[in-house]
Amino acid sequence: MDAANQFVYLPEKTCRYCGTPLPGNSTARRDFCPITYDQNGKPRDCKSAYHREKGKPDRDMLASITANHKAICSRIEYLINTIGQEVTTKDLDTYEINLIECIEAKKLNGQTYWYFIKHVIVNQPFSNLHKIERHDKYTNNGSNA
Ligand SMILES: [Zn+2]
Repeated sequence: MDAANQFVYLPEKTCRYCGTPLPGNSTARRDFCPITYDQNGKPRDCKSAYHREKGKPDRDMLASITANHKAICSRIEYLINTIGQEVTTKDLDTYEINLIECIEAKKLNGQTYWYFIKHVIVNQPFSNLHKIERHDKYTNNGSNA
């Protein structure tokens, strides 16, 4: 058997951006049309176009999530400076800190740990009290700056 023919029965590869069948002799890893230039010298680059369109909504979404979490982080810091690290549900409401907006929540020994970027808010069981602690679980640089 000719080693060069072993890929012949693979389905035809098409460009992930525009769907044009890719040249049969293209390298195995190619997913997009090769860059071509029109008569004005303007490049047609499916790979860049694909990533531009695919990436943008994700970037926008991540930017807005990040901005929201940074804002929550500032409000938590402000709450700590104003009230302290033991706060009530009403305090959280006043400062618009919605536990449900946390990055992740964990239950441990009947207490719920609500993780935000740099803080974890712990429900005290059977009360409206919450304890705020700093953590570097995500930043992991050991500083609380
Ligand atoms: Zn293409």
